Amino acid sequence: MRRVYLDNNATTALAPEVYEAMKPFWLEDYGNASSIHWYGQRAKAAVETAREQVARLINARPSEIVFTSGGTEADNAALVGIVEAARSETKHIVTTAIEHHAVLHTAKALEKKGVQVTYVRVGPSGVADPADIERAIRPETVLVSVMHANNELGTIQPIEDIGRIAREHDIYFHTDAVQTVGKIPVDVEKLGVDLLSLSAHKLHGPKGVGALYVRKGTILRALMHGGHHERDRRPGTENVTGIVGLGKAAELAREHLDTEGRRIAALRDRLEEGILHSVPLSAINGDPARRLPTTTNLRFDYIEGEGFVIAMDLRGVACSTGAACSSGSLEPSHVLSAVGLRPEQARSSIRFSLGRFNTAEDIDTTLEILPDVVEHLRAVSPHYKGAVAIVK
Ligand code: PLP
Repeated sequence: MRRVYLDNNATTALAPEVYEAMKPFWLEDYGNASSIHWYGQRAKAAVETAREQVARLINARPSEIVFTSGGTEADNAALVGIVEAARSETKHIVTTAIEHHAVLHTAKALEKKGVQVTYVRVGPSGVADPADIERAIRPETVLVSVMHANNELGTIQPIEDIGRIAREHDIYFHTDAVQTVGKIPVDVEKLGVDLLSLSAHKLHGPKGVGALYVRKGTILRALMHGGHHERDRRPGTENVTGIVGLGKAAELAREHLDTEGRRIAALRDRLEEGILHSVPLSAINGDPARRLPTTTNLRFDYIEGEGFVIAMDLRGVACSTGAACSSGSLEPSHVLSAVGLRPEQARSSIRFSLGRFNTAEDIDTTLEILPDVVEHLRAVSPHYKGAVAIVK
C-alpha cells in the first residue's frame, strides 16, 4: 500500500542532509562542549556553528539563541522566566485562547501561583485583533505572548502589529513560532519580538531539541538550576547531536524557504480545492487568506473526526483531527471551540499538514480515497440519515 504522510504539523521527517550532519556526533565527536580538550572543542565548535545557523534563519545574533529540549521548554522558559524575573508585586500576562498547551498550561500554572492572565478571544477567522490585545494590557502587565501561527488552523497572527503595541507599552513580547520557523520568513526585528520559541522537529530536524530567542538585554530567570551553560540561561550538558541537527535543518530551511513555500502552498490548494469540489457539506475552518502554506483544516459535516483518521490510515493516508483525545473522552479542541465552532463541528474537523517531502502524487492518492471514506462514514451516521430524510 502506498503511504502518504499529511501530518507535518505534528512532526516532520528528518531530512537526509540533517541525518548526515548529525552522524559523526554519535560515535566520533562525542565530547562535552564544556571540556577544554580536543574532543570538547570539536563539540563546542559544532554547537556554535549551529547557533549561527539558527540565528541567521530568524535574523538574530548568535548570542541571542538559547538551545532547549524543544518548543515546550522554550515556551515554559519564556513565560516563567519573564514572570519570575519581574520585580513588581502584581504580575499580569496577556495571551490568547488559541495558544498551544505549552503556553496555555504554563499560563494556568502561573495563575495558581497568583499571576493574573488574560486570554484574549479570537473571532471565527482564528486571528487575534491587535486592538483586543492592547485593551487587555494593564499597568501590571509583564508579558504579552501570542503565537505566530496556530498549529491546528495554520492561521497567522498579526505579530508585527502586536509587537508595535507591546513596544509602545514597554512590555516584553513573546511569540511561539514553532509552526512558522522554517516554513515562512521569520525575522525577529520585523516582528518586534523579545522572545521567540522554535522546535527542530517541525522543520525536518530531530525531536527533543529547540531554541528560545532572547533579545539582548531581556531580563529572564532560568527555568532550571545547574551549571553555567548557555550563558547561564539554560543549564545542562548540551545535546550536541540534536543541536547540530537543528542547525543543519535551519540552514536547509533558509535555502529552500521561497521555492518550497510556493510549491507546498500549491499542493495544499490543490488538495483543498479537490476536497471542496468532490465532498458535499465540507468547509474550511479559519481565515483562508492568512494561513501557513502547509496547513488546511476542513470540516466534513456528519462525520466523526477520529473515525475518519482511522479510516484514512487504513487506506494509507496519515492526517489528524482538530479534536484532542484527553483522558479517554473526546474533548472538542480548545482552538476550534475558541473560533466558535459547535462541538459537533469541531469533532468533524480534520487537519492536513504538508511538508518538504510531499508530492503531487500524494495529493492525488488522498483525493482518490477521501470522498469514498467520507461517504462510508456518513452512510453509518444516524444524524446524516436524519438530515437527509428531512431534506427529502
Ligand atoms: N508550540 C506549538 C505551536 C506547537 O505546534 C508545538 C508542537 O506541537 C509546540 C509548541 C511544542 O513543541 P515541542 O514538540 O518541540 O515540545
